[in-house]
Amino acid sequence: MIAKRLKKCASVKQPNASIETARSNVTAPCFAGRFAPTPSGDLHIGSLVAAVASAVHMRSLQGEHRLRIDDIDPPRIVAGSESRIVDAVSYFGIPVDEPVIKQSGRLASYQDALKSLASANRVFACYCTRRELDRGVNCVANCRQTRLDQTKPIRDTLSELRDKAAIRLDTTGVSGFIVDDVIQKAITVDDASSLGHPVIWRKDGLVSYLLATSVDDSDGISHVVRGADLWPGTAAQQIVTQLLDRPVPQWLHVPCAVDEHEQKLGKQTRAPSIHNADALTLLQQVWQFLGQQPFACGSLEAFWDLCPELWCVTAVPTITTQRID
Ligand SMILES: [Zn+2]
Repeated sequence: MIAKRLKKCASVKQPNASIETARSNVTAPCFAGRFAPTPSGDLHIGSLVAAVASAVHMRSLQGEHRLRIDDIDPPRIVAGSESRIVDAVSYFGIPVDEPVIKQSGRLASYQDALKSLASANRVFACYCTRRELDRGVNCVANCRQTRLDQTKPIRDTLSELRDKAAIRLDTTGVSGFIVDDVIQKAITVDDASSLGHPVIWRKDGLVSYLLATSVDDSDGISHVVRGADLWPGTAAQQIVTQLLDRPVPQWLHVPCAVDEHEQKLGKQTRAPSIHNADALTLLQQVWQFLGQQPFACGSLEAFWDLCPELWCVTAVPTITTQRID
């Protein structure tokens, strides 16, 4: 069975040939992925699906796997959840190769990225109120004319705009590109302005998830494996990444776990914490959720030793949601 499955997977095109080519002369490991939870509560089965898929896929490519804490939004942070997430990752034996990265420690990188986008004339200050915004996406005022003053340090600009204006990405003229995914059906973007002008820096002074994640996922990360709930926003992330002239990672969006009511199992739905679950049983359940053939193993170590060889990315369901029992 193992030989048969390996043979099947051997015919799979290796993702992102351009990345492979560009890094062919670099000392191994060539590939890196990440699991990037928000510390807004305990891990749940949905986040475990993303974590396992990311870790196994990277190990199958003999790549690194990193843990990043997406803690840029203080109002969402729940005290103690970061350490509980780190503990849970260890409890399930999910491989992590480097010290934990925290987005809250990378503000300067996000400010540099904003400065680059401003220099490329790709951002504008939006003074629209929420009520004024057309469906929450497009400006009703002529905000695109309000470019950032590039003679000032970016920090001063951010201080001046705080609580007055959000900073949006000007997507005008960005056209004709494909957002390709190993699992989901590719998206062709004929005209990026149809996506609106997404917020790059929030009115409350916080960097947006979009900019922070675009910067971090293009900083040595070759493969982004995550839940398909983030797939619709991937076109915007790819635009930001390309406008920053950074390498676009290979995207792999695995199905989101939903309940019998098609509700995503997550912190919002108060999905049960997995911290006290039987780790091996739950890992095997997640393994099968990802379309993989079950296999016998008696320990966490054996699971993580075997699964990279058995992993078959073409067996992952090409759907965005899937019920888990
Ligand atoms: Zn506006």
